[in-house]
Amino acid sequence: MQQPRRNTWQREAVRAALVQTPGFVSAQQLHQVLRDAGTTIGLATVYRALAGLSETEEVDSLQSPDGENLFRFCAMPGHHHHLICRACGDTRELSATVVEEWTRRVGAEHGFSDIEHVVDLFGICERCRATA
Ligand SMILES: [Zn+2]
Ligand SMILES: [Zn+2]
Ligand SMILES: [Zn+2]
Repeated sequence: MQQPRRNTWQREAVRAALVQTPGFVSAQQLHQVLRDAGTTIGLATVYRALAGLSETEEVDSLQSPDGENLFRFCAMPGHHHHLICRACGDTRELSATVVEEWTRRVGAEHGFSDIEHVVDLFGICERCRATA
């Protein structure tokens, strides 16, 4: 039998904080949320927990246009894409059949297998445009 992981409570705390936080957040922002809630947890531990959670696909991770790693607890299981508001962080889950088909076709044409892709769209949502 496997021993329980050493950082279980930290990982659970990070997971819980992420569930409560809408939209994508950076490890630093999440660290602040945890500290504000009185959780004593190091930033490095938050990074590790997030890496672990995104490996198990409980958590979505993506890179913002300015190269920051962002995380979000995701209601939609399995492979999918996101449409994210650059101003308020509002996020829509997208399935993109066209992208999946195109990926398979291009892979087949070039004789590639096991192709992975990351497609996330950033823009300004309707609400933010209205208040701008
Ligand atoms: Zn998602
Ligand atoms: Zn917005
Ligand atoms: Zn896809």
